[in-house]
Amino acid sequence: MNILIANLGSTSFKYCLYRAEGGSLEPLSRGGFERVTDYTPCIAEMRETLVKEGHLAEGVDPDAVGFKTVLGKDLSGCVEADGRVLDALEGFKEVAPAHNPPYAEGIRCFERMMPSARRVALFETAFYQWVPEASSAYALPKSWRDLGIRRYGFHGASHKFVAERSAELLGRDDVAERVRKLYVDGPGDFDDAPCRVISCHLGGSSSVAGIHTGVAMGASMGFSPQSGLPQNNRVGDLDAMAVPYVCKMTGMTVDEAERQLTKESGLLGLSNGQSNDIRDLESAAGEGNAGAKLALDVLTASIRQWAGSFFFEMGGAEAIVFTAGIGENNPWLRSGVCAGLEDLGVVIDEAANAEMIRGKEGRISTAESSIQVFVIPANEELVLAREVQRYMQANS
Ligand code: AMP
Repeated sequence: MNILIANLGSTSFKYCLYRAEGGSLEPLSRGGFERVTDYTPCIAEMRETLVKEGHLAEGVDPDAVGFKTVLGKDLSGCVEADGRVLDALEGFKEVAPAHNPPYAEGIRCFERMMPSARRVALFETAFYQWVPEASSAYALPKSWRDLGIRRYGFHGASHKFVAERSAELLGRDDVAERVRKLYVDGPGDFDDAPCRVISCHLGGSSSVAGIHTGVAMGASMGFSPQSGLPQNNRVGDLDAMAVPYVCKMTGMTVDEAERQLTKESGLLGLSNGQSNDIRDLESAAGEGNAGAKLALDVLTASIRQWAGSFFFEMGGAEAIVFTAGIGENNPWLRSGVCAGLEDLGVVIDEAANAEMIRGKEGRISTAESSIQVFVIPANEELVLAREVQRYMQANS
C-alpha cells in the first residue's frame, strides 16, 4: 500500500510517499514546493516526479493521502477526509486561520486530482477526545461554551507518538499497544499499573501534555494554537481581560490586537523583537541581552508550570519526555526544566543530556532517577503515515 502524506501550508506544500507493508513503513520519496498559490500544479508536478522515480505507475493514484488537519468544529479523530471534514474546517477557520483554509483547499484539490486515493484526515485534537469535561471546559456562560469555546489541545500526533514510544522505552508494551489502537478501539478500561508521561513538544510551536497510561489528560494549548506556552511569535496563555483593556486604553482594534498577539508576541515579543528562534536568543542572552534572557526564562518557567500541573493531576509520573526542534536540541533548557526536582525523583545525567542532540533518542536521567527523562525525536510525517496505515487496515 502506498501512503502519501500531504503537509499543506498557506504558501507551501510538502509531501512524503511511504510504502506500507505489514507493520512497517518505508519512506520512498519526499519533496516540496515554496511560494505556492495553487496546489493543483504542485500535485501534478509531484505525480510526475513520483512516476519518474518509479514509485507510482502512470495514471495510478496512491492508495491513501493523509492530512494533518488542526481543528474542526464538532469533529475530531482520524476520519475520512470528506464533506464533513470540510464543513468542520470551515466552521473553525477563524480560530486556525493559517491552517484550516489551506487544508480545506488541499483536500479539494486531491479529490479532483487523485480521485481514487482514499483521503484520511487526522485532527491534531484527536488525542484529546477522552479528556474529561472538568479539564476541558472553560468557566464561561453557556452561550460561549455553545460556540465551541473549550480546551481542545493540539500537537496530538506528536504527543501520541511520545505516548507510544515512551511506553516502549519504559517496558510497557501493553500501553504502547493501547496507544497504537487508540483511534480504532478507543481507550477501553484499564486498571493496570500507571504509566504516566509528561510530554514536552517544544519547537516553533510548543505544548506540554499529560498522558496517563496511554491516554491524554489534557495539554497546555487550549482553545487555539495561540495558548499555553509562549510560542515563537504567538502569545501563549494570557489573562482574557488584557485584550479588552488594551483595546479600550489605546483604541486598538480587535483585528490589530489579534495580529500582535499572533505575530509579534511569544519569544519574539518577550525579547523585544530580537528573534523568535531559540538559537539566536541563546547567543544574545549569553552576550547579556536582557530581553533574550527574559524570553528563555519565561519559556522555562512556563514549561515547569504546565509539567507540574500534570504531575499533580496524574498523581505522579513515570517519565518526562522532550521532543521537537527545541526539545531535541537544547540540553540547557532540559536541565533548566528539570532543575531542583531531585525530591520528586528527577535526576538528570548531564553528560547523557549534553550528548542527546540532533535526532538522537535516549534517556537523559541517571539510573537512580525514579522518574525517567527521555529525548524522543519527533517525525510528524511518519506519525501521520502510521495513523493512516492503521485507519486503512481498520476500514478497508
Ligand atoms: P520545530 O518547530 O520542531 O521544527 O522547531 C523549530 C525550533 O527548534 C527553532 O525555532 C529553533 O528554536 C529550535 N531548533 C531547531 N534546531 C535546533 C538546533 N540544532 N539547536 C537548537 N535549537 C534548534
